[in-house]
Order: sequence, then C-alpha cells, then structure tokens
Amino acid sequence: MAKKQFKAESKKLMDLMINSIYTNKEIFLRELISNASDAIDKLHYKSLTDDSIKVDKKKFGIHISMDEGNRIITISDNGIGMTKDELENNLGTIAKSGSNVFKEENKHKKDIDIIGEFGVGFYSAFMVADRIEVKSKAYGSDEAYEWVSEGIDGYTIEPCEKEEYGTDITLTLKADTDDYSYSEFLHDHEMEHLIRKYSNYITYPIRMKVSHSELKKGSKDEYETKIEEEVINDMVPLWKRKKDKIKDEEYNTFYSDKFFDYEEPVAVIHTSAEGLVSYNSLLFIPSHAPYDFYTKNYEKGLQLYSNGVLIMEKCKDLVPDYYSFVKGVVDSPDLSLNISREILQQNNALKTIAKSIENKITKELEDLLLNDREKYEKFFKAFGSQIKYGVYDNFGVNKDKLKDLLIFTSSKEKKNISLKEYVDHMDKDQDSIYYVCGETIDKIDLLPQVESFKEHNYEILYCTDYMDEFVLQTIGTYEDKKLVNISKENIDLSSEEEKKELDKKNEDAKEMFEVMKDAIGDVKEVRFTNRLKNHPVCLVSAGDVTIEMEKVINAMPTDEQIKAEKVLEINVSHKIADKLLNLYKKDKEELKRISKILYAEARLIEGLSVENPTELASLICDELVK
Ligand code: ADP
Repeated sequence: MAKKQFKAESKKLMDLMINSIYTNKEIFLRELISNASDAIDKLHYKSLTDDSIKVDKKKFGIHISMDEGNRIITISDNGIGMTKDELENNLGTIAKSGSNVFKEENKHKKDIDIIGEFGVGFYSAFMVADRIEVKSKAYGSDEAYEWVSEGIDGYTIEPCEKEEYGTDITLTLKADTDDYSYSEFLHDHEMEHLIRKYSNYITYPIRMKVSHSELKKGSKDEYETKIEEEVINDMVPLWKRKKDKIKDEEYNTFYSDKFFDYEEPVAVIHTSAEGLVSYNSLLFIPSHAPYDFYTKNYEKGLQLYSNGVLIMEKCKDLVPDYYSFVKGVVDSPDLSLNISREILQQNNALKTIAKSIENKITKELEDLLLNDREKYEKFFKAFGSQIKYGVYDNFGVNKDKLKDLLIFTSSKEKKNISLKEYVDHMDKDQDSIYYVCGETIDKIDLLPQVESFKEHNYEILYCTDYMDEFVLQTIGTYEDKKLVNISKENIDLSSEEEKKELDKKNEDAKEMFEVMKDAIGDVKEVRFTNRLKNHPVCLVSAGDVTIEMEKVINAMPTDEQIKAEKVLEINVSHKIADKLLNLYKKDKEELKRISKILYAEARLIEGLSVENPTELASLICDELVK
C-alpha cells in the first residue's frame, strides 16, 4: 500500500522529535498515557449521557507491556478508539493544540523550549521510537485499522484484526547510542517509576507486569522472582487529596503537565468546600502570560469535573473576565453530567461555586501582595492590565473588589505601592492621593508640575500604563481621599497668602493673558501659577479629557480623535513673568511671538508635538539674532 505523506507542519515537528537532543525524552510516556486516558474519558462520558452505550466502568483501564528482546513497548487502552478517518486526521496532522504554536514559536526557539512549553502529544513518541504502530477500533464499529509509520517519509493505514474497541500503540525503540540508553524503558522498574512520576493521578488504572524478588517458601535465604500484574498509579486526583499531604513539587508537576507551562505558578489555591454546594478546586495563578493570552484566541475557563469525570474543558462561567488568567480544575458532585452549556449558565450550584472561587482568588492575590511582593510584582507585570480592566469595565461595578490589587510606582524610592500603602504613608492633613500620568517614569520625573509636589514632600503615584488614568478616574476616591491628577487644573500647594497674591497678579494681568491666548489660538486660558519651581511654563488640562488621554486615544488605530482643553501656566516667580508684563506695555507684537514660543515649549515638555515646527523655528531664530 502506498505511503501517505505527513502534512508539512507535522513533518517539521516530527523531524524535531526524531532528531531531538532533548534530554527529557521520557515524557513520551506521559503523552501517550494522557491520550489513552482522554480516550477513556470520552467513552466514559458518552456512556453516562447516552443510554444506548453500555460499557462496564470497572473494566476501563490502560495496559502497558514491554518485550525486551524485540525492543517493543505497547500501550493499550479501552477508550473510544479511532475510525480510519480519525487515524488519518489525528495522526497525519498535528492536532490543533500543537500546530499553531509550533509555527509561531519555532521561528525563534530551540527544540527544548518547544517540548518543555507545550504538550507535543503523540509525535513525542518519535523521540524514542523508530517505528510506531497504532491499532485502533472505534467504539461501536466492526472494523479495526492499523496506522504505521517509520518516521518522516510517511505512514500507511490498513485494515487489521482487533478484538476489543480501543487503541494499542506499539513502539519499537531506537538502538542505544553512547549518549542515550533507550533500553532503560524496557525495564519494568524504570517504567513503574515513570508512570508514578508523570501519570500517578490518571483516574483509570494503569496496569503492568512487575517482577518482585520474594523469599522462597520454607527458605531463609533463597529468593525467587515472581511476576505479577499490578496497578501502578494512585488514581486519586490531586485535587481530591488532603492539602497537607501534598508537596509543592506535586502541585507544580501537575500544573506543568496539565497546563503546559514551563514556569512554576506564582500561587496555588487548593480548596475543598462542603455545604450547600460541595466542590474541590485546584487553581493556579501563572507567573507569566501564555503566548496567546492577549489575542482573541485565548479562551478563559476552568476544567469542570463531576465526581472525577471531565464534563467541560473550559467552563467560562467559573471565572470573571478579570481573572481570566487563572487555570485549574473544579470538581463537584452537585453538577449533573449531561448538563448543557445553556443550562449551566443558569445553574445555581455553578453560580455559588463561581462566587466562592472568585473570593478565593481575590484573597490569595491580596495575601501575595502583602506577603510576597516580589512574586506579586511578577504577577502584576503579567496580568495587572486584567485587574485594571476589571476596575473600569462595566462602569466600575467591580472596582471596590479590585482596587486593593492595584500597584503603582511611587515617586518616593520608585517602589511599587498600593493605594492602601499610599494612604498609610501620608500625612494626616493631606486630603488627596496625587498621581500623574506619562510615558515613562523618567519622563514623568521631568515634568514641571511634579517638581513642586516633590518639594512639598508629597508622594505621587506615577502612572505609565495608558489604562491607569481611566482606572483612577473610575475609582474616584479611596478611603475618603480624592484621587487627584496633578496635571489637571488648579492644584495649588501654596499658602493662603501666596494664593491671594497670585490671584491678584492674575487679575492684574487679565488683559495681557487675553492677548497671549489670541496669539496662541489653541488654549482655553493663560495664567500665572505658583506650582512651578524652576521651570518657566507648563501645560495642564481643564476639562475631563486630560492631555495623557488625548495622546493615548489619538494613538489608537481608530478614527476617534479627542482634544484636551489646555491651559498654559506661567511660573509667576520666573523672570519670564516680568518680561511678559513688560512686553505687554511696550511691544505687543513681541509678546505674541514669545507667547507662541512658550506654548510650543510647554507642548514639547508634555510630549505633544508642535503643530507648526517651521513657524516655531523661525520665531526662535528671530529671537536668537536679536
Ligand atoms: P492532543 O492530545 O494534544 O490533541 P496528540 O498529537 O497527542 O494531540 O493526539 C492527536 C489526537 O489523536 C488526539 O486529539 C486524539 O483525538 C487522537 N488520539 C491520540 N491517541 C489516542 C488514543 N489512544 N485513543 C483515541 N484517540 C487518540
């Protein structure tokens, strides 16, 4: 029979597997056992939801055998099996899980990363085998087929004999090399060790023949070898075991196996709840965003089990959008198996579980923020934008739940602090929480407005994320302290006396400001200010739209353009103030020219562009040659 070719992507991945120098070749076993377990899950689920399918649950299981002489390992399951078409489609191409990732990631990464990062599934068997046979009979079918491949040049599928439904996978191991002893996998103790290491919590029994040395009957020192078939795995899923009996390492292995993450999670939340609704859950907060997290392909959700049987791979209703990064499993005996997606949404038990899970996650994050700042910062770097989004989404309905999870860089020591910490640090008579927005911390530090706040020893939150401003506006007040953007209008830190004096100066110069405003054209107001120390000018916004918002929204690829109402402020104690007053009396035309230059300066300091650079250049040049 003619050989069929693998699809191009599969070929690439296979090539990678065949020539892999990856030291962790043993993971092939985990992949094949997990496929076998999935296949049994599928049949199990079907049997529970379809009365016409009658299978004996007690017979479900996986069987592993080795033939040392022929260098063969066989992994058999009595799961759902595959039809001829399924063999073709599932094993001739990389399943959806692998292919896209492979294409994207393979450009930059070495094979080690790919294998560590994602489940590569069935093809990983080519790391250890140079021939693979897959005999399969789909449940309910009379025909069985055999898929055979010796590697990259293709595969064949032919009818074969197979008594029971399910799948047998036979690997012929590669010859040993100086670097790697594939024969190890043929020894029952090594195999037993690997099954326990990787597949201990597979919920079906994994059986294998194991040899034991036993004292011969009636003898004190003579041993005999007995070979017996045993169930190797513990089967109880990790989430159903007692918390205090589980090592961190076990959680981490479970997490990386199940969710294909090569980095340890920042937090593990293991809960066992009894009451109106009982459930076990095992949740993980990853330490970095998955490669597709910020794309529309990412699907949130937790695995949902009913008494150990998987009923949904990604149950969206269990986690709110702002916690979409959470991975994990939920198992509840109070959910029925053939629950449909629509019914699930209105299911009260599910709602109760979701609520309780959300509280657990919030509490865990709050604890992390308090007790392990380094980890929390790592988390926030990866998923902080989710929390921020949660604060302002839906007109801020969830802001109170989430506001304590926010952190910002503080002007003091440039450390990350929460709103709570800000309030705890501040003087009793300070009535506002000050923040300022800008592109980077360094740029913010250079803003004229920041100067006098630092001078007065006020702590300022530096907001460098474009969402920050929306977030803080949504929150509005925190513990009765108003959140105040210092780039916005009228924050005067000076004394009452100084304020009065300033008001008078502004009043006296009213007409001059009108002339300046007309010359500039683009400002709502020109005035003197007390808030600048050394800088001559700054630009602040007057309305709800701030200058940062103008920058952010106008940079977005939409047609929407907005404009902040701008106020040009002039440092009342700077020499330029006197100069302007003087020009107003003596040379109005010069006053207009200088006004334009000052406005352009203020725009540049704010990170806005100058609308007419040519005009600005000649204005400056005229001044230089005077
Ligand atoms: P993944 O398990 O990530 O989908 P694999 O490459 O491991 O990718 O497997 C591809 C597909 O082949 C599986 O999704 C499944 O449909 C099918 N498959 C693999 N092994 C078995 C098996 N033992 N029984 C039934 N189907 C299987």
